[in-house]
Amino acid sequence: MDAARALAERAVEAARTLTNNGERADDHQVVVERVAYAATEARVLAELAQVPSTVKAAADVAAAELAASIRNRLEPVAGALGLGNILYPVDQPPADVEEVGAAAIASAGRLAWPLDEVLEEVRSNVRAFAEREVAPHAEHIHTHDDLVPERFITEMGKLGYFGLSIPEAYGGHELGNLAMILTTEELSRASLAAAGSLITRPEILAKALLAGGTEDQKAHWLPKLASGEVMAAISVTEPNTGSDVASVSCRAEKVAGGYSITGAKAWCTFAGRADVIALLARTSEGGAKGLTLFIVDKPRFDGHEFTATQKGGGTLTGKADRTPGYRGMHSFTIAFENWFVPDSQVVGGEAGLGRGFALQMAGFAAGRLQTGGRACGVTSAALEATARYVAERKQFGRPIGEYGLTRYHLGRMASRLVAARAITYAAAQAMDGDERKAAPVAAMAKLFSCDVAVEVTQLGQLLHGGWGYAEEYPISRYVADAQVLPIFEGVKPILALKVVGRSLLGR
Ligand SMILES: Cc1cc2nc3c(=O)[nH]c(=O)nc-3n(C[C@H](O)[C@H](O)[C@H](O)COP(=O)(O)OP(=O)(O)OC[C@H]3O[C@@H](n4cnc5c(N)ncnc54)[C@H](O)[C@@H]3O)c2cc1C
Repeated sequence: MDAARALAERAVEAARTLTNNGERADDHQVVVERVAYAATEARVLAELAQVPSTVKAAADVAAAELAASIRNRLEPVAGALGLGNILYPVDQPPADVEEVGAAAIASAGRLAWPLDEVLEEVRSNVRAFAEREVAPHAEHIHTHDDLVPERFITEMGKLGYFGLSIPEAYGGHELGNLAMILTTEELSRASLAAAGSLITRPEILAKALLAGGTEDQKAHWLPKLASGEVMAAISVTEPNTGSDVASVSCRAEKVAGGYSITGAKAWCTFAGRADVIALLARTSEGGAKGLTLFIVDKPRFDGHEFTATQKGGGTLTGKADRTPGYRGMHSFTIAFENWFVPDSQVVGGEAGLGRGFALQMAGFAAGRLQTGGRACGVTSAALEATARYVAERKQFGRPIGEYGLTRYHLGRMASRLVAARAITYAAAQAMDGDERKAAPVAAMAKLFSCDVAVEVTQLGQLLHGGWGYAEEYPISRYVADAQVLPIFEGVKPILALKVVGRSLLGR
C-alpha cells in the first residue's frame, strides 16, 4: 500500500513538471487523466485505513485491488512521466476475497458500519422511511416513467431531508454533510431517481446562495429550500454546450426592473415540477466572467411537456428526453423566450453580475459530494439484491453463492462499496470545514464512487444471469440508473482532467 501511494505521489510530481504545473495539461491529456485517477485511488487507499473494524477484511481486499490498479493505470504512461520501473508485487489470495464474499452473502449484503449516536439515528430513521414509503413504489415509477409522487416531497420536507446542510439560522438542521450523505445513501438505496436525487438540487442551489447570495436572498430562499416548499431545478447545460460551461450562450438582457431571458437549455432535470430554476445565463461577453446565476420562478407542471406564458408575453417551454434509467424526475430540453426575472433574483444582486460561474462551481462541489452518496446507495442496493439472489438460486445442485467464483465476485462488490463509502464519508467530513479546500476530494469521491456503482451493478446483473436482464428484478433498474452517475455533474473524463487533474497539478 505504501509503495502504491508513493508511486501515485511521484506520478503527480512528475505530471506537474511535464505540464508546467498544469498549464500544458491539454497537451498531455492521457497522462493527466491517468495520474488524476491514480491519485484518486491513492486517496481512497488512505481513507480505507480509517474505516470501522467491522469492514476491515473488505477494506483489505479493496486496498490490494487499488494498489494493483494504481500500478496498472500508470504503467502505460510511466515512460512519458519518466517514472522508471514501477513494478511492485501485489498479493491478494483469492481465498481472502471469497471469505469477504461469503460474509456478504451471509449478511444479505448488509455491511455493519457503526456510527456515532446521532448519525446512527439519522441513518436508521431514513432507512425506515425509505423502505416503508419509497421502495414499494420505485419499480412502478421506473417502468411507467411516472413523476415522483408529491407525498414523497411533502414527507421528506417535513422530515427535514432538504435542509441537512443548511445552517439553522436559515431554517436548516445543520447536521452536517455526513448526515446529508447518509440520508442520500439510504434514499438512493430505495430509488436513485424518485428519492435520493431530490436532495441534489436544493444542495446545489443552497451552497451557491451561501457562497454568494445577498443576506435578503439567503433569508428568503434557504428556509423555503430547507422545508421543500420551494423545489429547484438546475440549468447549466445547453444543447451545444456541456462540459465547456464558460461557453454558455442563453442570454439575459437588462430590461426595466429585471432581466429578459432568451435561449435553449438541455437536460434540466425536474424542470417540470420545480418551482424555480437556478439558471446560468450570459449577461455579458467574456467567457466565464460574463455569466450570472438567476433564480427563475415558474409554475409547476406534472407531465413530460409543458408551456408557460407570463403576463408580459414571455414563454417557457419544456419537453422531457426519454432515458433508459434515472426516471421519476424527468430531464427536459427547455426554451426561454423573453422570460422576465426581477433584479431581486440575480444571485448576489448587482455584485453577483459576472459571478455566476464561480457560484455554480461552489454549488457543483456540493452536488458532487451528494452524488458520491447517491452512488453508494445504488451500490448498496445492488450488493444486497445480489447477495439475496445468489443465496437462493440453485444450479448444478447447489446455491450459486456456495461456488468460489460467485463468492469472489461478491467479495469484490462488498470491498468496492467499502472503498466508495470510505472516500465519500471522508469527503463529507472535509466539506464541513473549508469547502474550497475540500472541493477536490468531493470531486474524487464522485469520480470513484460513480465508477464503483456502474461496476457493482453490472457484476450484480451478471450474477443474476438472464433474470438480471428482466425488468421485474430490481437489479436491471440499478444498472440503468447507475449508468447516468458518471455522466452528470462533470462527465467522467472532464471531471478527471479538469477538476481533479487541475487541483493536483496547479501550485
Ligand atoms: C439524465 C441526465 C440528467 C442531467 N441533469 C442535468 C441538470 O439537471 N442540469 C444540467 O445543467 N445538466 C444536467 N445534465 C447534463 C450533464 O451535466 C452533461 O451531460 C455533462 O456535463 C456533459 O456535457 P455534454 O453532455 O454536453 O457532453 P460533452 O461536453 O459534449 O462531452 C462529451 C465527451 O466529450 C469529451 N470531451 C469534451 N470536452 C473535452 C476536452 N476538453 N478534452 C477531452 N475530451 C473532451 C469527453 O469524453 C466527454 O465525455 C444531465 C445529463 C443527463 C444525461
